[in-house]
Amino acid sequence: MSRIWNFSAGPAALPEEVLKQAQEELLDWHGAGCSVMEMSHRGKEFMSILEQAEADLRELMEIPAGYKVLFLQGGATQQFAQIPMNLLAGRSADYIVTGSWSKKAFKEAQRIGTVRCAASTESQGFTCLPTAEEIKLDPFAAYLHICTNETIHGVEIPAERIADTGVPLVVDMSSHILSRRVNVEKFGLIYAGAQKNIGPSGLTLVIVRQELLGMAPLTIPSVMDYAVMAENGSMLNTPPTYGIYIAGLVFQWLKRQGGLAGIEAVNVEKARRLYACIDNSGGFYTNPVDPDCRSRMNVPFTLANPQLDAAFLAESKAAGLVSLKGHKSVGGMRASIYNAVPLAAIEALVDFMNDFAKRNG
Ligand SMILES: *Cc1c(COP(=O)(O)O)cnc(C)c1O
Repeated sequence: MSRIWNFSAGPAALPEEVLKQAQEELLDWHGAGCSVMEMSHRGKEFMSILEQAEADLRELMEIPAGYKVLFLQGGATQQFAQIPMNLLAGRSADYIVTGSWSKKAFKEAQRIGTVRCAASTESQGFTCLPTAEEIKLDPFAAYLHICTNETIHGVEIPAERIADTGVPLVVDMSSHILSRRVNVEKFGLIYAGAQKNIGPSGLTLVIVRQELLGMAPLTIPSVMDYAVMAENGSMLNTPPTYGIYIAGLVFQWLKRQGGLAGIEAVNVEKARRLYACIDNSGGFYTNPVDPDCRSRMNVPFTLANPQLDAAFLAESKAAGLVSLKGHKSVGGMRASIYNAVPLAAIEALVDFMNDFAKRNG
């Protein structure tokens, strides 16, 4: 068996240790005589898996007691609608648009109620962050929505750029949650689809300040109501049990990496090496994003000569470096270097990129 170096944007690489543990436990989880997939979600075995996963996540992210952790379904895309359904309460909300994903969140929210764009960097091709002067906030907004890591454009908002605006901050962290330390208290609601940095697709994580629960109108479906899901411990109906189990194994793996501080140090080094390769290529490769908001997780880059794109993709794949094609909306290449992508994968990619540039430059 040989495993590739996987740079997929999502569903993405999982830690090999986690996959091996899941394989060992597949037929008989801890003496239960069946797989986690085959057991009742209300039995004591699965309840212990869920409780441990939540406890480990709370420890990793230092989630304060006043926050609920919800294990939901429907992906981050469902949250684009569920957030305004729950939090608008007849008011208006603000959105800062810094890439494809926050743009989609803004557009979807328009189906539910009144929202306004407080700032957008679309005219700059989503390669930078808006300045403080460019952000026009509504002080009476129900919430302010941001996406702190734009997976397609490779734009990440550094923690120190996230200011308190006096309204609840709602954040899409799908593609960089658990990659760095975070001050949960800054946020009213954090959400993330699991398939980038948490576990398999089908699980969606929501971390929400308790005060924001119970604002939803009674006309929304109960599975969409955060308060109902919180009251029922994410078990109003059958939760995505296997996804929760794998996420729990990932949380334990993260603790073994030294928690978020430990994995952040590795992520900083991985990103440093890849951006250095791009920036030192004499223009052979280019990343268009402002250096002060380049993503540590998703690194888009173009080749100066796009006629070499096909050869780059074919030769990198032959070298075991897979899923480097950029998103169709931006073209070129993208390397997604999530937590589970080890430094050795970046070393192999950088070696390949340097060699490819030398042979074709
Ligand atoms: C992938 C992604 C989404 C969409 O996630 P789904 O789970 O497919 O709905 C939303 N936001 C960001 C930042 C993403 O990376």
